[in-house]
Amino acid sequence: MWNPSEWQYRGEGNKHLVLFYNGCSTDLRGKVIRLQKLRSDSQAIADESLQDARRYLETLEKVFAPLLGESYVQHMEVIELPNEFLVEAALMTHREKNFDRLSTYGQLCDDLLSGPVAVEIKPKWGFMPKMDGQKQKTCRFCMHSHLRGSHSHYCPIDLYSGDRSRIVKALSALTITPRNNFRVCMNEPFTADALHTLIAEIIMTDPILPNLAELQKSLDELDIERIWPMYEEQKDQLQHLSIDEWARAVNNFKSGSHRDDHIQRIMEYTLSMTFKDCSVMICIGASADKQIEWYFDGRWHSSTYSVRVIDLDLKSVDNIDRWYELDQTIVQHAVKSGLNRQCENTS
Ligand SMILES: [Zn+2]
Repeated sequence: MWNPSEWQYRGEGNKHLVLFYNGCSTDLRGKVIRLQKLRSDSQAIADESLQDARRYLETLEKVFAPLLGESYVQHMEVIELPNEFLVEAALMTHREKNFDRLSTYGQLCDDLLSGPVAVEIKPKWGFMPKMDGQKQKTCRFCMHSHLRGSHSHYCPIDLYSGDRSRIVKALSALTITPRNNFRVCMNEPFTADALHTLIAEIIMTDPILPNLAELQKSLDELDIERIWPMYEEQKDQLQHLSIDEWARAVNNFKSGSHRDDHIQRIMEYTLSMTFKDCSVMICIGASADKQIEWYFDGRWHSSTYSVRVIDLDLKSVDNIDRWYELDQTIVQHAVKSGLNRQCENTS
């Protein structure tokens, strides 16, 4: 079944090599395999890669899918690959070889980049917290950009606004200054105007951005300024949280219970940070499952698309000290420098 000649190079990062299927099996068509690059050949690392892959799948299934909806989460399967396959796959690397071998266990998932166009957006914080002062006026992303001295005109509040012209404005700003917030993968020519029109239409039609903003906001009801003192008191009870404990926190959140429980609130805040840092993949054509009509250049067009949320890594509560410090640095800099940017539409 695992014939290396039927797989081709798709891309690679520092940690993974990705191959796509180019053979005749209908079960594998439209799939990719992600293989972890390993430095040493010890068995311990192989076992760890299996545990990591399983843990990631379990958090998707028990923690993130119940919050986002099953259809927005990318399905994957952990598979064991024969040695001959791994040896051939290792030869496909396009980089200077920075690993000794590939993990025996790979992740088999849908190929999100097989269609004519795919857009990856990391939209960041889509809500204004209920806090006084600078936080009421300028959104978190704009304050952080200001601290970094960035000249980007992207404001997430525009992208999440539901208003066509503000969404197009946000997409244009992302095109000019993509940083790590925007990536376009095109296998067919598309003008920037056509792409912005189509993506804006999808953003206005699909519930994913409003859902993400709502999750970010309701999981972060108290703001880090109130969460941090709770964390300082409860730290010792928050060591080694299991996936089942996270799943319980998700259930409590969904049922609206345990609102006075500080540990619950700290875990909710930590979950909100994943949703503030995840990416939305919008794929046009190919294995797309939804349909959209859009008007451009004097006529109507019809396209199919699919939306998946990626980079859903469960963060550790240990980050709360660092998040609080960063929050204070960002806000104090904005106040001291007299940042006057107004992100929320006040009309
Ligand atoms: Zn803003």
